[in-house]
Amino acid sequence: MAKISIQNVTKNYGLLNVLKEFSLEIENGEFVVLVGPSGCGKSTMLKILAGLEPASSGKILIGDKDVTDLAPGDRDIAMVFQNYALYPHLTVADNIGFGLKMRKMPAADIAARVQEAAKILAVEHLLERRPKELSGGQRQRVALGRAIVREPQAFLMDEPLSNLDAKLRVHMRAEISALHQRLGVTTIYVTHDQIEAMTMADRVVIMKDGFIQQIADPDTLFRRPANLFVAGFIGSPG
Ligand code: ADP
Ligand code: MG
Repeated sequence: MAKISIQNVTKNYGLLNVLKEFSLEIENGEFVVLVGPSGCGKSTMLKILAGLEPASSGKILIGDKDVTDLAPGDRDIAMVFQNYALYPHLTVADNIGFGLKMRKMPAADIAARVQEAAKILAVEHLLERRPKELSGGQRQRVALGRAIVREPQAFLMDEPLSNLDAKLRVHMRAEISALHQRLGVTTIYVTHDQIEAMTMADRVVIMKDGFIQQIADPDTLFRRPANLFVAGFIGSPG
């Protein structure tokens, strides 16, 4: 499982400087959370990692491989979106297996991998349903299933729980953490929710206006916030 290296990435939309020299080294199997107020550049950073947006400058390595100019499909990472992005006309099984089918994997192998992913996410009994026949939590599990079935080197998750009600959100946090424990896949998780960041992360990256304010584990962040913004944002006594 790859180490990810983000080196001096900047992103401009016209005159708007959305990311400013963003650098971050992520260890194998780490769960890193990017957190910060709306508009600070979190989704932009994930899209650049996924290859869905080009960086204006800078470099991204996965393992030893420079992926800066590679297409999304050549990066071996799976993204989970806030709106789930499930195909409404496909069954749960076909939604989960879609990426494998695109890769021309034999049908029997796809079925076995889909079964295994569905079991891990406890949606085996839903495989013949369509997305509209699922609850919010079930849809989110299917979206996660679609990511894990590909066995990628890393997961990118952009506010995956923000469409769920508060109670389910707390439950799914624990599920995602448990999934991470089980699979050990490097994960970069984006949220604007400080509590989510502090409870789920190995390390938290606090962002503001395209700048990294601090990178630290939750305990250090709480006890030694680097500045007033960090202290205020995470509500630490400092
Ligand atoms: P976050 O996910 O932290 O809320 P985003 O990364 O979505 O923030 O956006 C960061 C900034 O970049 C915002 O000011 C947003 O309006 C701007 N932005 C995002 N995407 C585009 C785009 N395609 N074109 C122009 N501006 C954009
Ligand atoms: Mg966003």
